[in-house]
Amino acid sequence: MYSKAIIGYPRVGKLRELKFSTEKYFRGEESKEQLEAVAKSIREEQWILQKRKGIDFIPSNDFSFYDNMLDTIILLGAIPKEYKNLKVDMLDTYFAMARGYQGEKGDVKALPMKKWFNTNYHYIVPIIEDDMKFTCNVDNLVKYYKEALSLDIRTTPSIIGPFTFLKLARFNGKKGINDVCYDILNIYNEVLSKLVSLEVEVVQVHEPYLVMDLNEEDKELFTDLYTRLFTNSKSLKIVLQSYFGDIRDIYEEVCKLDFYGIGIDFIEGKQSLSLIKEKGFPKEKVLFAGIVNGKNIWRNDYSKTIELIREIENYADKIVLNTSCSLLHVPYTLDNETNLEEDKKKYFAFAEEKLGELEELSKILSGKEENLLVKNKELFKEGRIAEENKHIVLNEEDFNRKPSRKERKKIQKEFFKLPILPTTTIGSFPQTKDVKVIRKKYKQGEITSSEYDKEIKNYIKDVIKLQEDLDIDVLVHGEYERNDMVEYFGENLNGYLFTEKAWVQSYGTRCVKPPIIWGDITRIKPITVEYSKYAQSLTKKPVKGMLTGPVTILNWSFPREDISLRDMAFQIGGAIRDEVLDLEKAGIKIIQIDEAAIKEKLPLRKADWYTEYLDWAIKAFRLVHSKVEATTQIHTHMCYSEFKDIVKDIDNMDADVISFESSKSNLDIVEYLKQVNFETEVGPGVYDIHSPRVPSKKEIICLIKKLRENIDKEDLWINPDCGLKTRGEKETIESLRNMVKATKEIREVI
Ligand code: GLN
Ligand code: ZN
Repeated sequence: MYSKAIIGYPRVGKLRELKFSTEKYFRGEESKEQLEAVAKSIREEQWILQKRKGIDFIPSNDFSFYDNMLDTIILLGAIPKEYKNLKVDMLDTYFAMARGYQGEKGDVKALPMKKWFNTNYHYIVPIIEDDMKFTCNVDNLVKYYKEALSLDIRTTPSIIGPFTFLKLARFNGKKGINDVCYDILNIYNEVLSKLVSLEVEVVQVHEPYLVMDLNEEDKELFTDLYTRLFTNSKSLKIVLQSYFGDIRDIYEEVCKLDFYGIGIDFIEGKQSLSLIKEKGFPKEKVLFAGIVNGKNIWRNDYSKTIELIREIENYADKIVLNTSCSLLHVPYTLDNETNLEEDKKKYFAFAEEKLGELEELSKILSGKEENLLVKNKELFKEGRIAEENKHIVLNEEDFNRKPSRKERKKIQKEFFKLPILPTTTIGSFPQTKDVKVIRKKYKQGEITSSEYDKEIKNYIKDVIKLQEDLDIDVLVHGEYERNDMVEYFGENLNGYLFTEKAWVQSYGTRCVKPPIIWGDITRIKPITVEYSKYAQSLTKKPVKGMLTGPVTILNWSFPREDISLRDMAFQIGGAIRDEVLDLEKAGIKIIQIDEAAIKEKLPLRKADWYTEYLDWAIKAFRLVHSKVEATTQIHTHMCYSEFKDIVKDIDNMDADVISFESSKSNLDIVEYLKQVNFETEVGPGVYDIHSPRVPSKKEIICLIKKLRENIDKEDLWINPDCGLKTRGEKETIESLRNMVKATKEIREVI
């Protein structure tokens, strides 16, 4: 039999018990003891399950109350002063770093949060201060290890390694990585000695940063850190886990170090196999082969995996079957899905089912239970989805809008006759409790569709009136009918499947439930036309149609594995194109196509940006609007402004106007736009909608003036930096009023 390992498991609880308990604790409705008890029972249940499923390397410390990077901050004592000064206990200090603290002990903001590599999971960014004194705090590590031991389970404690920690940390003083790395390393040494004293046998150290583009300095740092670490902890077996790609830049160095085992990702690591083929794999080491996908939810294709393992076995003597990354990124179990039919369910594997896959693969590889292979083969026979639709036929014209943007601009200025610095919003207006109740009632069948329609139209009527009163130039219908940017469209597209409880942690207590792309995507019927048309009928001003773009829809779904991302993006693009053309036919002159997640799946390695992603992602957007009239103005929106690296590609989406967030971040990007002659008109949000604070007219004027230094007045739009759905009504009205007043004043003087 082959040994089996996993890199980590979800931890919010099968029914999100940890989320609910934590939120209650935040609201003061539950005690620390209650929260701890919920957490403990989640951990125990999972260990027992993993043992039952025959996992040989069961992790501990993969559990987290919020995030594993934040746990590492505690482990190393890298707690910034302002949180220490609160003088609250460790758990509350921890939560203060995660989400800020406001109360009798003080007032501090949360640490920054960023996306974890190429996932939709977010980690807390460590901030390293010059005078930080690192201290070892192994309490949780020890506690979890002992907890499992008392269940007779000997776990493999799991920690984030020093290299990844340092590379992801932010240094806010004079010091840099080289100034603190040995101090940090000392703490890691302490941690490892502690584990030795507990008689821990194997520990897994996560170094996902190894799959990034590494330079000489990075490689030296990594080698130096681990060479030193190994001189101190001889008796411990260390498994290096790498994931989210291959480690091509540092493979040889890694092989030379004293690791007991090396975790290599064969799912996302495109060069993993060729690396071991060309460079070999050290005889004495164990290869933890990441062959069960930790990120997607489709069944493993056993025939292919077995072929792969057999091939790996030509180069490595000792193999452990491993997941490609932590199972944190998939939902708990299919058992929770009561609405999904069995003939669909059999194609999927969530975390629990993936444990089963490791077990089955091990059996088949050992020559037992051939029937498991036969059964699995059935799933991959041709014919799950009819072949003929897989590739939609497209030619060059489908991606090229005519006339050119420059010509369109003239035509559109003439056509719309908008004032200079036109004002608009990003789409949604505050979603009050009442709106949510109405949507829920409709979903549960408590009100009829015509009653629902009437209610939504009343909201639209009010919001149009409100925007006219505020004297905004380009209006929106408010998006009252939508709960989510993807689900709303998915529900109206053929090819999507929805789950009930398949939640995946996005950050802290926040989970998302990505829909599944099951089959070929086509539009069932017009999706947004009726409400947009209604909104437009109420006013003479233009009302923007509001759609989610194909790349965002794709990136926030679980994709198929039997066709390429490119094909899926083009299929979704085709469906959204139908919607764009119907909106145009219905008299909607301005259409916004949101691409909030276009940067999310940008490959981790620069060399892959174009070949694997941007080439089709940008085209998918172009496909959506290539067939509209010159007078139809296409907007897009992105929730961030960190697109410096791909600014030409963003321009190349060929939209007429783009809005993005810039009020919070510095205005670097705006200077940059000028340098590169960015052609798309821009609306770099003039206030931050993530806070209830009302911006004054004066500060908006100030900001617009700054924007004007780099943006031609013919190219500048004025808008908030994102949709308003999470804001209260009162602050929204006041903020927009100030925004319009500020704009009008500036118009007088330019
Ligand atoms: N149109 C969407 C809204 O206004 C955009 C949301 C987003 O960018 N995340 O809510
Ligand atoms: Zn946004």
